[in-house]
Parts: sequence; structure tokens; C-alpha cells
Amino acid sequence: DTADYDREVKSVCPFCGVGCQVSLKVKDNKVKFVEGIDGPANEGRLCVKGRFGFDYIHHEHRLTKPLIRREDAPPKGLNVNPGNWQTHFREATWDEALDVAAKGLKDIGGRGVAGFGSAKCTNEEAYLFQKLIRQGFGHNNVDHCTRLCHASSVAALMENVGSGAVTATFNEIENADVAIVIGANPIENHPVAATYFKQFTKRGGKLIVMDPRGQALKRFASHMLQFRPGADVSMLNAIMHVIVEESLYDQQYIDAYTENWEAERKHLADFTPEKMAKICGIEAEVLRDVARTFAGAKSAMIFWGMGVSQHIHGTDNSRCLISLALMTGQVGRPGAGLHPLRGQNNVQGASDAGLIPMFLPDYQPVGDDGVRSAFQEVWQDGQIDPQRGLTVTEILDAVHAGDIQGMYILGENPAMSDPDVEHARDALAKLDHLVVQDIFITETANFADVILPASAFAEKTGTVTNTNRQVQMGRPAVPPPGDAREDWWITVELAKRLGLPWTYTHPSDVFGEMTKVMKSFDNITWDRLETQSAVTYPSLSPEDPGQPIVFADGFPRPEGRARFTPANVIAPDETPDADYPMILTTGRQLEHWHTGSMTRRSRVLDAVEPEANCSLHPSTLRKLGVAPGGMLRLSTRRGSIEIMARADRAVSPDMVFLPFAYVEAAANILTNPAVDPYGKIPEFKFSAVHVEAL
Ligand code: SF4
Repeated sequence: DTADYDREVKSVCPFCGVGCQVSLKVKDNKVKFVEGIDGPANEGRLCVKGRFGFDYIHHEHRLTKPLIRREDAPPKGLNVNPGNWQTHFREATWDEALDVAAKGLKDIGGRGVAGFGSAKCTNEEAYLFQKLIRQGFGHNNVDHCTRLCHASSVAALMENVGSGAVTATFNEIENADVAIVIGANPIENHPVAATYFKQFTKRGGKLIVMDPRGQALKRFASHMLQFRPGADVSMLNAIMHVIVEESLYDQQYIDAYTENWEAERKHLADFTPEKMAKICGIEAEVLRDVARTFAGAKSAMIFWGMGVSQHIHGTDNSRCLISLALMTGQVGRPGAGLHPLRGQNNVQGASDAGLIPMFLPDYQPVGDDGVRSAFQEVWQDGQIDPQRGLTVTEILDAVHAGDIQGMYILGENPAMSDPDVEHARDALAKLDHLVVQDIFITETANFADVILPASAFAEKTGTVTNTNRQVQMGRPAVPPPGDAREDWWITVELAKRLGLPWTYTHPSDVFGEMTKVMKSFDNITWDRLETQSAVTYPSLSPEDPGQPIVFADGFPRPEGRARFTPANVIAPDETPDADYPMILTTGRQLEHWHTGSMTRRSRVLDAVEPEANCSLHPSTLRKLGVAPGGMLRLSTRRGSIEIMARADRAVSPDMVFLPFAYVEAAANILTNPAVDPYGKIPEFKFSAVHVEAL
């Protein structure tokens, strides 16, 4: 009803990588409700988070003033709450807080300082953040949560395809006749994308779902492969073995567009479905049928999520998926392509903007002299370090080793999101100087020396890039509360106090600079985004809305060829034993987002899912003598939590599924910090766990 609001503002949902466009309905400077509008990724649709997960922006816990840790504050720890924050912090003016923040970081200086940016930032904020660390401190120790999400997928894509982004939008499934969804649960985690997947099956498309945990998409699947956790490579190699054995591959495509095929073909000879069935738990005949179905498709797509990426063999998992697409020629055509479904709303954009330690913006290697001098020319001040920087988990290890003493953290919550989180919390407590920029006193802000109050999505201007490579304009609907400010402004003010000659006066200035150093933004201007709201990159001309499909005529690699990289079966880092006999896997649930700081402060979402919970098979609960709703203790080699049990037949009897949104039963107290050697991503999807009834 238009009487319920006095204005509406078009923006982008702040949660997942689908990037649904929204209309924020505002009255008396409050967002009253949200509706989906006709964005390229959502065509008017929204999920429960997009529709109801907005009121956290008006929550009473919002930070409204800069805060400085009191000299007489208790020792740093996870001990700040809305009732006692004055014991730990005092309010300050912006000038004082920024001066103290900058002086602390400057006094430490150089490699003693590191930065975590965020995939919740806009592209301009991410760009400024990585530039501040690189230019202000002379090194590349800057990273963000892509390291915990799709870093291994990007490593495999960069290696074998030459680009880390998707080769086709998820909407292209409309033109496919077969699709694989592996290690992803889109109905919960990318719900609007899932509506396209369901429609695809309704018009006869064959959907092959592969996941150790059952899921709602199973109802729409032609094949459901509930394989053993961690056995991705054995299953995928067996499928590819059949494609080779039965000569179902596309020799013409392989000859024209790939390299290293002979090595891949020979490598696959050992992976017979009969042998691999014992490892992956899927019958040989099913593996053969899936191979024939996929290879027989006119057009086929592969979608994957963190069930693929969050393993110590996450890069190998993605290598297999890339090889499967290449050998069947399923890239670069309508309805064909590789699509890692991005988690955060701007993890694609933040990565593109250079918030990663080995690449400058647009994945340009820091070690390349030509790349660095091109950036120097635009940045003018400071020398860019040719050495790759440290990743998220390496930075926290370096804090423990005493090599890093100061950090600037923008919008990340490592005190909840990092594996073996007590190790991360201890590292944060050890820092001599921690500056946190956020909208709440998050678990990470508990450890801060200075807290800078920032803006929520509905209070700021800036662009974000979704899983489809669609760059979209986010617009402010309401002012930030109290003295909170837009993030780009805060980072610029901090940079000035660090002595950097920054003169940006608006996010459009930053975007303008980005277009000078990022070819992916060719033909995309701020003005275009203001008027059109979304442009897909690459855009081939000022009139081109952007290319939904890329690599029709070869790849951005030597000689235009994609590469086959054979993958071997590697066991998970920690296998179940007598002390820890079950498998723990972590993930999200529909109503809550990541570490819960936003959705647990959203009235409707928190009312639907108010309590920390984990899911086990009913037969496992019976053996434990626990009814659904009863309490369990989960213990791993890192620690223990107590949590309510739910019965879920989708979880196999030897598994526990644990969402990571709940601080009172933090999943990452339990998780294994072992990382994939290429993507440096932790193995969140597999820890050995002991479960007991309380
Ligand atoms: Fe937001 Fe993702 Fe839901 Fe769309 S699908 S409304 S982007 S959470």
C-alpha cells in the first residue's frame, strides 16, 4: 500500500551472491518493507532473507559513535555485550578516533600491520581498502572472506581457464538440458537462483544433484548422488573415466580449445567406477549413467558451492569439474558453462577489486613488473611490493608468531568465521592495536582498540558485483544512525592520517579510478550504472548490457587454450577414529546469514530460527538416546560446544550438520584449520567429531 511509505529507493539485497534488486520502501527515515524488482538476476523475486532481513539496520545495537578502548578496560576477550560496553569503551569524536586509529597503525607500520576487508563492502570500499594496505604499509598482507569461501575454486579457474569468474550466468540454465549442482544447497543458500533450477526441471531439464547431505532440490533431481563426504575427486574422476572409456568426449572441442588432454586421459584410466564406488559410496552403474547423461547433453552447466571448495582438496575438486566441462565442450555456448555460486553479495566484486594478497585488482599478479608499474602510474605515491602477501589464516598465524601486531578489519568477523576460532580470538587479543570498522560491536569488535561506526547497505552509495558478473548500483535509502558514516569516507579519512595523498570526494571518484586499472570494467561507467542499475562484465561497447556467456572463442590463457589438470584422491586431513568417530560438516541455513550479526538482529528471521541447532539422522539420535530438541555436546580436537539436536533424514547416520551463525554454540570452535595448498582455504566441511548426549 503506497500509504505505508513516502518514498522508495532501488538497491541490491545485502545477503547472498545472487544479487537480487530490491525496492526499499521508506517512511520517516525508516525502511518499512522491501519488495523485489526487475533486476537481471531476480526478475522481481526475493527470498525470505531479502524480504524480511532488513530491520537489523534500525536495531538498537547499531553503533552510532566512534569508540575507543578505555585505559582501565578489562583484558581483551569475548566479554563485551550491549549491557557492559561502557566498561570497555568510551565514546569519541571522529577526529580523535581516526587520529588514535591511524597513530596506532602507523607506529607499528610496515609488515607489522595487516588488513581484512570484506565481501560485504562495495567495490569502491574494497578497492580503497586494498589500496590503503598496499600503498600505506608497502606490502600485500590484505585478504578477505573469499579465503574461507571460494578461494580454491578461483585458484583452479585461474589455473585452467584463466579467469576466476563464472563462464555463464545462472540464468543460462534456461538454455541447458542437463545441469549438475554439486556441494551446494541453493534452496537454502541461493534461493532465488534455485527457482530458476526448479523451472529448468519443470520444462524437462535433467538435474544431477551431488551432495553428501540430502537437500530439498533432490525432489527435482533426475539423479541424486549422496556421496561420502570428501570423496568428490573419486566420484568425478570415475564419471570422467566413463566418458573416456565410451568415447563420449568432444574431440573437436578438445583439439581446438584445450591443452594437456593426453595427460588427463591417461590419468583417468585408473579411476574405474567399480574401484571408485568403494570410495565415494555411489554404485558404479549410477556413475556410468550420470556420465552418459552429462556427456549426452546438447548444453550442460555445472554449479558448485562450498561443499566443493572448503576441503584441503578443494582446488582438486574444482579442477575435476573444469575438466568435465572441457572434455565435453560444455563452455562458451548458450546453456553451457562453469558457475561457482558465490556466497556473499559482493565476494565477486571484492575479489575483482584486489582484496586478495596475490593479486592487484582484476587478478593482476603483484609479482609482475609491468602490472605494478601500471598501478604505480595511477596511484603515484608509494611502492607496490612484488611479494605476495599473507592469506587470512596465515595472517592470524603471523600474529601468534609476533610478526604482525596491528590490524585494520573492515566488516569481517574472524572471531566467529575463522576455523579453530579460539586460535583466531587469541590472535585478536594479542594484537597491540586493532581497528574495527563495522555496524555492530561484533565478536571481532570485542577485541578492538578503536571501533569506527559504519553504514549498512541501505545507508550508502556504491556498486556490488554478483555471482553472474553483474555490476549493480546500491543506493542509500536512509541516513546512517547517529554519527555513523559511509565506509568509503572512513577509509579515506584514515588514509589521509596515514599520510596518503587521497582526494576522493565520492564513491564515483573511486569507481573512475578503478576503470583505469581494471579492464573488466571497460565500457562500464558510473553514469551507466546510475541509469541502468546493472551492467554485466565484460561489456563490449557502451551500449552492450554485457556478455552472459564468455569464452566462446578460446580462453584468456597462453594460445587461448584451457588446461586439463589431473587430480588425485586425497583423504581429508582428519579422519574419524575411535575418539572422534563421526564427521562434522558446517554450513548456512535459510534464515541466518554467516556469523549471524545481521540476521539474528532481524525480527522475523530470528523469530523463525532463534536457537542454535545441529542436525543428525533420527537413527543416530535414537542410538544416543536423545529426542529432537534435546541437548548434545559436540567435541573435536579443538574444543567442545553444547547445542540443541534436530532430526534430519537428509544427514547421513555418521554425520552432524552444524550452522555457523550462533555465537553461543560457535561451530568454528570445532573446525579444522588445515588448508588446501593452492587456495589456502580451510577444511570447514570435514572434521572428526565426538557426539554425546547431555
Ligand atoms: Fe537476497 Fe540472495 Fe535471497 Fe536474493 S536470493 S533475496 S540476493 S538472500
